[in-house]
Amino acid sequence: MAKVHVFNAGPCLLPQVAIDNSIEALKDFAGTGVSLISISHRTKEWDAVMDECRSLWKELLRIPEDYEVVFLGGGASLQFLYVAMNFLEKKAGYLDTGVWAHKALKEAQGIGVAEAIACSKDRNYCYIPKGYEIPADLDYFHITTNNTIYGTEIKTDIDCPVPLIADMSSDILSRRVDVSKYAMIYGGAQKNAGPAGVTFAIIRKDALGKVSRYIPTMLDYRTHIDKLSMFNTPPVFPIFVMNETLKWLKGIGGIDAIHAIDEKKASTLYAEIDRNSLFRGTADKEDRSIMNVCFVMAEGREDLQDEFLSFAKSRGMIGIKGHRSVGGFRASLYNACTQEDVDALVSCMQEFEKMHI
Ligand SMILES: *Cc1c(COP(=O)(O)O)cnc(C)c1O
Repeated sequence: MAKVHVFNAGPCLLPQVAIDNSIEALKDFAGTGVSLISISHRTKEWDAVMDECRSLWKELLRIPEDYEVVFLGGGASLQFLYVAMNFLEKKAGYLDTGVWAHKALKEAQGIGVAEAIACSKDRNYCYIPKGYEIPADLDYFHITTNNTIYGTEIKTDIDCPVPLIADMSSDILSRRVDVSKYAMIYGGAQKNAGPAGVTFAIIRKDALGKVSRYIPTMLDYRTHIDKLSMFNTPPVFPIFVMNETLKWLKGIGGIDAIHAIDEKKASTLYAEIDRNSLFRGTADKEDRSIMNVCFVMAEGREDLQDEFLSFAKSRGMIGIKGHRSVGGFRASLYNACTQEDVDALVSCMQEFEKMHI
């Protein structure tokens, strides 16, 4: 098979070593002679994986003592509901920066009073709102740090007068985060942390227990904190692959090391988009995401879109078609994507330019 370069938005590329080790574990888990997907999750071998995975999250993100990390099912989309059930008493505020942020808000509105504090829909979510004020009487303020579909990112930890909750599905583990500034951080694993099928939630324990509603057992974070994510059967296989992914990340130097690599990949591609007369970026420069790079054909060259897509495909580029709500192209440069992958895409854009000017 010819060399391929995977830029899928999610599920996405994972480190090969994580995939290889998972294949081995599927055949024989930890020398038990039993496949990973046939073991009991109540064994010491499995406990060791859970413990290691939790510890790696804590170590890599420097999660303070008063927080716990839980692994759940249902994806980030179910967290939209969890968040409202566990934190919404009187009123919540949301930063509406795109489809996912909006879905999170909508879910909260099904539970209680929730409103958008600021919104960037006026320009199809191509920027992060600024200069808005966060009301001090909110139960929490919810942000989506990386807007996967539009390629915008909140790259610093904002100051917030109320508990701050962040969906970090698509930029977790790509930059250093001051966890202590958040009451909670969550996301689906399948963008940077592992395969689809497991969701992580990092929660400050004393932020819980402040709502008066009945919370169903499975939707109550305290259930999963108390039982160390083993109240019911955990998604064994996705957690295993996630653990292998975290081990890989630690092995290459952790968050600071990957951040430098991620920044270089993104700046390489943005530089080409800005230089190449056939393309232009869609997100405002100051808010550009280092994970999802969105671009379209330059004005007047829109007719070349399909041709570029098939040209790129013939050069081994996979997953660069933009989301239907933005159009054009999106290259997702998650942690396992390499500088070599990005360089290949850039050459492909340069070659295409030569063919058309
Ligand atoms: C992909 C994504 C989601 C949805 O995740 P699921 O696990 O599929 O529910 C939510 N938020 C953001 C920012 C995403 O990128």
